[in-house]
Amino acid sequence: MGRFVYADNAATTNVSKSVFDSMVPYLTTHYGNPSSIYSVGRDAKKAIEVARQKVAAAIGAQPTEIYFTGCGTESDNWAIKSTAELLKQKGKNQIITTNFEHHAVLHTCEHLKKHGFEIIYLPVDSEGYVSAEQVKNAITDKTALVTIMYANNEIGTIQPIREIGAVCREAGVLFHTDAVQAVGHVNIDVAADNIDMLSLSGHKIHAPKGVGALYVRKGVRLVNFIDGGAQERNRRGGTENVASIVGLGTAIEEATKDIEARMAKIREKRDRIIDTILTTVPKCRLNGGRGKRLAGNVNISFEAVEGEALLLRLDMMGICGSSGSACTSGSLDPSHVLMAIGLPHEIAHGSLRLSINEDTTDEDVDYILECVPKVITTLRAMSPIWNG
Ligand code: PLP
Repeated sequence: MGRFVYADNAATTNVSKSVFDSMVPYLTTHYGNPSSIYSVGRDAKKAIEVARQKVAAAIGAQPTEIYFTGCGTESDNWAIKSTAELLKQKGKNQIITTNFEHHAVLHTCEHLKKHGFEIIYLPVDSEGYVSAEQVKNAITDKTALVTIMYANNEIGTIQPIREIGAVCREAGVLFHTDAVQAVGHVNIDVAADNIDMLSLSGHKIHAPKGVGALYVRKGVRLVNFIDGGAQERNRRGGTENVASIVGLGTAIEEATKDIEARMAKIREKRDRIIDTILTTVPKCRLNGGRGKRLAGNVNISFEAVEGEALLLRLDMMGICGSSGSACTSGSLDPSHVLMAIGLPHEIAHGSLRLSINEDTTDEDVDYILECVPKVITTLRAMSPIWNG
């Protein structure tokens, strides 16, 4: 078999061995229902609470401020819809967000728009950043919530969250951040960062798919998202996904250890990919600013190249990446993120996102740098619009 290079860690990650090993007992021997009073039930309950402590410690929160959820999307929905419901009763019907959030936030906001909310979409600049100043200028006495992502999933730009949080705190407005792409890549401290609610997801940090968490600062009210039993302090009914919660605890503990040193190594490889492609392949551009950017994120647009064709060819060579074009999701519209930073449609269509991590080796990088330029040359040779 040829080489296999997985460079789509922003989409999902593998379950690491240590995470898997920590989960196995809760699928086999310690399979009790955490609500049961006998010992295998109590063991499961204890394991959930240990995981809660680990998630809390990873972001500087208290364990009682953490609620386990089914995914990052659920966490986003819960934070935004709960705040909207509670604050609408006080006459606040405005939500401030950006135009390049994940659909978990954008579609939740669109839902609320149908229920009488005004949604303010702050534009990001051509590098993919929003400023605290923009947030400050947009807040009115009708603002119920500001929800702005910590780091963008497509172009990797890291937002000035601490400053945005400070502006919200000063104005007395709740601040939620979707930190699904940031946890484990950036040091996060919810207190120092002035965050009231934060969403995270397990499968981006080597835990399984289908588990996430929502941080809600003590004192911030929260409505039940799922009515049922007394799980998650009566806020989210349903027997807990014990093994996955344990896996999330293990994963977040590992992902938030030595972030700086781990990211420095990844950043070096990322920069080699970016610099080599930008200097050897004509007519391409990096999407998203280089300064505050996730260490593993590469996002490059190639003129006269169709993103899906590029992905399929790379797949045939054993490289997994993703494209800024949304063709694979059944839509021919280019990515809203690339539109938000001002890319013309035809350029946005020829985009490639590679998201590398600590498992990416120098040989993997060599292979990416051997294959990508080759594929671009081949596709351009076949393109009726390439005139390079
Ligand atoms: N928010 C961001 C920024 C993401 O990148 C993702 C997943 O890609 C999500 C939310 C959704 O997370 P999940 O897949 O756990 O629902």
